[in-house]
Amino acid sequence: MNCPYCGYSDSKVIDSRDANDGVRRRRQCLQCDMRFTTYERLEHASLFVIKKDGRREEFSREKLFRGIQIACQKRPLPGGTPAKLADDIEAELYQRGKAEVSSRTIGDVVMAHLKVLDHIAYIRFASVYRDFEDITMLKEEVDSLAGHAVNPPSDQLPLLPIDELPVPPRVTRRARR
Ligand SMILES: [Zn+2]
Repeated sequence: MNCPYCGYSDSKVIDSRDANDGVRRRRQCLQCDMRFTTYERLEHASLFVIKKDGRREEFSREKLFRGIQIACQKRPLPGGTPAKLADDIEAELYQRGKAEVSSRTIGDVVMAHLKVLDHIAYIRFASVYRDFEDITMLKEEVDSLAGHAVNPPSDQLPLLPIDELPVPPRVTRRARR
């Protein structure tokens, strides 16, 4: 970017920090020494979702957000929770650095987040995204939560970090090369 004060084409970076999905850089013009800020938005590599029936579709933050929003409806959560969750989960998925992710994995990640946030929202989401084979499985899941009351005790097992979530076998673009 040219200096906004004198139009000179070269500047040096004097500070650089991550900002949401980009990098904010403080620059100093090499000609007039004036300082200005640039914001570089990171271009996401495309991410494809592999659905249960094998179809691929481009990842949609909007879809993710809507699913979370429905699960969190009328729950006593701070305003903006679904949007923040969607942002965090989207960031997590891109940080994996993979070109493809299964819809099951996305569901697992969302559930891991909801589980620590709100058990009702978690069960709502789980009942949609994890195809409980029958009502018994759903009941077992609910019962496992019931012991934890509203605030999970501190001795609750930590949730698996994203890298340890089970990922079904799949062929990635990289693997085919
Ligand atoms: Zn300048």
